[in-house]
This record gives sequence, structure tokens and C-alpha cells, in this order.
Amino acid sequence: MSGPVPVEILRQHLIDPEICIRCNTCEETCPIDAITHDGVNYVVKADVCNACMACVPPCPTGAIDNWRNVLKAQAYSIEDQFGWDELPTQNPTVGAADAAAAPDLPQAATAASDGDEAPGSGSDMVRGSTVPPWSAARPYVHLYTHKAPTTATVVGNYRLTDDAASSDIHHLVLDFGAMPLPVLEGQSIGILPPGTNAGGRAHHARQYSVASPRDGERPGYNNVSLTVKRVTRDHSGNATDGVCSNYLCDLKKGDVVTVIGPFGNTFLMPNHPNSHLLMICTGTGSAPMRAMTEYRRRRRLKGATGKLMLFFGARTQQELPYFGPLMNLPKDFIDTNLAFSRTPGQPKRYVQDAMRERAVDVAHLLKDGGTHIYVCGLKGMEDGVLQALGEIAQAHGMAWDALWERLKREGRLHLETY
Ligand code: NAP
Repeated sequence: MSGPVPVEILRQHLIDPEICIRCNTCEETCPIDAITHDGVNYVVKADVCNACMACVPPCPTGAIDNWRNVLKAQAYSIEDQFGWDELPTQNPTVGAADAAAAPDLPQAATAASDGDEAPGSGSDMVRGSTVPPWSAARPYVHLYTHKAPTTATVVGNYRLTDDAASSDIHHLVLDFGAMPLPVLEGQSIGILPPGTNAGGRAHHARQYSVASPRDGERPGYNNVSLTVKRVTRDHSGNATDGVCSNYLCDLKKGDVVTVIGPFGNTFLMPNHPNSHLLMICTGTGSAPMRAMTEYRRRRRLKGATGKLMLFFGARTQQELPYFGPLMNLPKDFIDTNLAFSRTPGQPKRYVQDAMRERAVDVAHLLKDGGTHIYVCGLKGMEDGVLQALGEIAQAHGMAWDALWERLKREGRLHLETY
């Protein structure tokens, strides 16, 4: 006599197309190639994903952390997912209780729920902290969504780079009027550019780190600033016009933009006044460093004593955003180290080269439990910077692997590279 046929239920990993900013971080992070994309959506292959969670902490928006209980035989295909504008609702007949009992359910996935992260899972595959510093302020996230965005008015749009520089980088100031936009240094917002793509679908949001401190670009005002580089080439170097960056760089005072967010709940600064910031960035990755530095500068007047050490890389001095204001900051407030890679007649120099030159001081900070490290900019810099940190630590008597784990666990090593 045969018993009832078991129904296999899968807690299917999905990406929310309404929140995803198509930054490719999940696809790059996935150790088993379970994530892919077309020109519209990033999707997860149900038959490959093992819910290891490696992709979840690095996702800057949280779009990756979505799960639906489905009959395994009816899992959403990648073709289904490519066609979505929004996630399907949970089929109530395949409920959470059934899923919890599913025999093939990986532990990490059972612990996760929409918007919640499975604690600890996959952390050994993640290179930076998945928790904020202990003293960070609590961030607000997802106050405004694709379905319910807010608007801001452009109150300033200034070119930051020299006229002769090949990069056109802008400092954009957005005012939110009476609409609440509580945002912390290290968080980002999404901009919805107007119009549609070649397929007739609305452009998806582009994400920009906020370059101003929590109390406003202008203290006490409800405004934020962004650092935007006009994209004129794709990753392969072919000529292209970046949809959102060109839109933003061309905005005039008084124009209104559509905004979603804020995003980000770990790349946040410590609030204890004697904590040290070791900041390493390239190009427009300087946006969150500017926000943190300016917050510390304002707070310094109120007794913050922690050290600030900055390594900042750009092609040339003329291409370095905020060069003038940065150079005006007092030397006893911030220890600034610049690295230029394309200065005519000079050898290529990257941030990691500058770090090695300052190894003694970097090591001093690494030894201090109050040091918090922030890395932001090009994806390619991540390996080089971690390697330099490792070499400096080892050369100064610190076991890097153990220190690296500790920094991650204590919310003191934050990486945001695209
Ligand atoms: P970029 O001008 O292309 O490069 C900046 C500097 O980094 C150049 O000197 C470059 O040298 C150097 N670099 C290249 N590869 C490197 C490596 N492996 N290690 C160390 N340095 C390296 O930079 P960008 O166009 O401004 O790009 C900045 C990145 O930050 C983008 O990927 C952007 O998405 C990201 N980001 C932006 C924001 C924002 O709010 N706007 C926020 C977070 C992150 P070469 O001369 O060799 O090119």
C-alpha cells in the first residue's frame, strides 16, 4: 500500500524588480552562478540557488532578500522573472507553515523572511561587515518606493571637475521641502529618471550615495547632495550616454526629480566621538566620505576627538571631486593622502600604493579597536585595498585573517564598490 505522495515545497529566492538598482553585485557575489540578468531584470535560478545567503548582505538596496513559498514543480522560471515589473504575492495555499516543514529547505532560507536577513549565514563568504558600527544611528530605509516615490527640487548643480578634465562630475543639491527624508552618511537614495527604455518600460532607479551629512547639505535644511559623474562610456569603453547621470548633470535649478529610498543599513559611521575613520575611495566613491568628514567636521566643534585618515584616488588632480575644499581642511583634523593614476610624466599610483607608503600610521589605526574602515568606489579597488591592509597588518605583527574576521564581526569594515 502506498502512502500520500509528498508535495515538495520550495522557499524560492527572488529579487524585487521594483527596488533592484541593477548594480550586478549579487551576480558577482553568488559563488554558484545562480543569478543572471537580461536588459531589464536580475533573477535567481530556482534550480541552482542553494540559499547560501552570500548575495544578501552585499546588496545595497535589500532587493535581493525576497522569498516566496512555491510548489517546487511550479517554481518561477527565469523567463517568468524577466517579465516582472513587481514581485508576485505569496500564494496563500502554499503558506509559511508548509514551507517550514518542507524537507529540502535549506536552513538559511527557513530563517529568512521578506526583508529579514538570515543571521550569520553566508558571512564567511562576505568580505565586509554586514552589521553597522555599534554606535551608529538607526537608519530609515525604503520610506519611498517605485509605487510611492517622493520628489525633490534641484537647488544647486555645480560642475566639480576642472573644465579641462575629461570627467564631468557634478555636485547636485536636492531640497525635499516639507517631505521627510531622514538620511545618514553612508546611505543612498534612488533617482527615477523620466522616460522609458528601448522596450517601452519605465527606466529603473539609479542609486547615488548621499554626499551630505545627516543635518543637511546646509545645516538645518531639508536638503541632500549627490556626486554624479556623467557616464559617456560603458564598462567596455564603448561610447554610450548614461540615462540617469546625463539627466542629473543637465538639471537646472527649480527642476523636480523623483526619488526613492533611502537605502543602506550597515555602511554607516560610528557616533562615539573618539572613534577613528579610515576612509579609502576612488572617484565618485568619495561621496559618502565627504558626508562623514563633514559630519565629523561639524561635530568636532562639539568635542569629537577620533582621527580621520583618507586615501583618495583619481586619474588626475583635475578629476578629483572636492579637491579644493578637501585641501582646505586642517591637517590636524584629517590626514589626507591622494593617489593619481594618470598624471602625465608620473608613474601610475593607486590608493593601495599610498596606503603602503603610510603603512606605519595605517597599522597604528588597525591596532586600535576604535577604528572603522570604509572603502567606496570602483569594484577593482577592493582586492588591492584588502591586500594592502593584510600586508600592513602582517608586517606590524597582526594576524590579518583573525583581524579581518573581527573587523567584519564588529561592524568596522565596510565595502561599497560597483
Ligand atoms: P575613475 O575615475 O574611473 O577611477 C578613479 C581612480 O581609481 C582612477 O585613478 C583609477 O585609475 C583608479 N583605479 C582603477 N582601478 C583601480 C584598482 N584596481 N585599484 C585602485 N584604484 C583603481 O572612477 P569613477 O568613474 O569616479 O568611479 C567611481 C566608482 O564609484 C564607480 O564605480 C561608481 O559606481 C562608484 N560609486 C559611486 C557613488 C556615487 O554616489 N556616485 C557611490 C558609491 C560608489 P585608472 O587610471 O587605472 O583608471
